[in-house]
Amino acid sequence: MENNTMNRRDFLRISALIGAGTLVAPTALATLPGRQRDDEVESSIPRRALGRTGVELPILSMGVMRADNPNLLRAAYNAGIFHFDTAHGYQNGRNEEMIGNFFQGKPRDSFFVGTKIKMNYPPRDNFEEELNERLSLSLRRLKMERVDVLYMHAFASVAEVVDERVVAAMRKIKDDGRARFIGFSTHAHKPEMLDAAAGSGVYDVALVSYNFKLGNVAETTLAIERAARAGIGIVAMKTMTGGREDAAGERKINAGACLKWAWQNEHVTTAIPGFTNFDELDECLAAGRSPGISADEERYLAGLREQEMMFCQRCEACVSRCPKRLPIPDIMRAYMYAYGYKQASLSRETLEELAINGDACAGCAGCTVKCPAGFDVARKIAAVTPVLNVPAELLT
Ligand code: SF4
Ligand code: SF4
Repeated sequence: MENNTMNRRDFLRISALIGAGTLVAPTALATLPGRQRDDEVESSIPRRALGRTGVELPILSMGVMRADNPNLLRAAYNAGIFHFDTAHGYQNGRNEEMIGNFFQGKPRDSFFVGTKIKMNYPPRDNFEEELNERLSLSLRRLKMERVDVLYMHAFASVAEVVDERVVAAMRKIKDDGRARFIGFSTHAHKPEMLDAAAGSGVYDVALVSYNFKLGNVAETTLAIERAARAGIGIVAMKTMTGGREDAAGERKINAGACLKWAWQNEHVTTAIPGFTNFDELDECLAAGRSPGISADEERYLAGLREQEMMFCQRCEACVSRCPKRLPIPDIMRAYMYAYGYKQASLSRETLEELAINGDACAGCAGCTVKCPAGFDVARKIAAVTPVLNVPAELLT
C-alpha cells in the first residue's frame, strides 16, 4: 500500500530537513556565536513553591534536552532561570555533561538541576543495581554529589508509580542524599497517576504534559490541583504541543501564549520549555516577565484547539485497530520530535527504544486506524521511520 513506504513528498521533506541542516549535528555545521549576558540584571520572573519541598522556583525553567550550546545555558542562568531539566539519556549523556561543565565552580545554591533515569518495567532482578549505576554515571557527568530532583523517567502506568521496589530504591537515594527530592515524569496523560502519587506520599515532584490541546484537560487540571494540595510540586512539559501550530510542522507556535496558558493554573510550579536558541529564550523570558494571558492570546489558542497539530492525545484508540499493535502513540511522539522539535536524534532514539524498524507498516494491506485527532498515522509512520536510516553521527 502507498502509505507503507515513504512517499516522494515525505522523502523530499526529510531530505530537505537534512539538507537544510535542521537535523544535522552541529559538529557538521558552523558553531553558534556565543552571546554574553553577564551584565544583565536578574529578571523579575515570578516564583512559585515547589510543593512541600520548601524550594521556590521561577515559573520559567529550562528544558535542556535539545540544547547543545553552553552559551544558551549561560544566557538563561544570567537572566534569572535557575532550574534546569535534563535526563540520563539525552544526547547520549552529552546533555548532562554540558550542564556539569557549565555549573562546575558555581555556587551550588545558585542552580537547581533535575535529571531523569529510564528503567524497564516491570523491574528486573537487578533493578536497584542498574538504577544506582545509572545515577552514579549521571552524577559523574553532572560533576555533582547530588541532584536536586531525581525522576523516574517516563512512567506509563499507576502500577509503576506505586511499585514497591521502585519506591524503595528511590527512597534510599533520597535518604542517602544523592537526590534532594524524588519524582517521576510521564507522557501518558493519565490523571490517575497523579492521584496515585498523591496517595503514596512518596514523590516530591511530578513532571507532566500540560497544554491547551490535552483532550482530558479538565481531568488533568483537577488532578494537578489534588496532587499540589497533597504537597507535590508540579512541573509542566509539552506546554507548546510540539512547537508548531500545524500538522506538517511548518509554522512555529506562539510560545508565549502556550506558556501563559499553562501558568494560569496556579498549581503548576514551573514550565520547562526546550528552547534551543537565543530568540526562543527571549520569547520565553518575555512571557515569564509578563505572564498574564491576553484576550488575543486566548483567541489564538482557541483557534488552534480544533486543528490537527503535532500533539498526540495518547488516547490509544489506534492501538487495538492496528493488526501489528504498533506503539503508535510513541511513534507519533517520535514524529513530533523530528518535525516539530526538528530533533532527529531524539526521534531516532525514541524509535530505537521502541524497537521500531524502517518498514514498520510493511505487509499491511491497508491502514485500519482511525484517529479521532485526525492523524494520518500510516503516513506519519512512513515519514518518521527513515530517520533510522540516517547515520546517528549526522543527527542533532
Ligand atoms: S488515536 Fe490518534 S490521538 Fe489517539 S493515541 Fe492514536 S495517534 Fe494519538
Ligand atoms: S494498521 Fe498499523 S501496521 Fe497497518 S498501516 Fe496502519 S499503523 Fe501501519
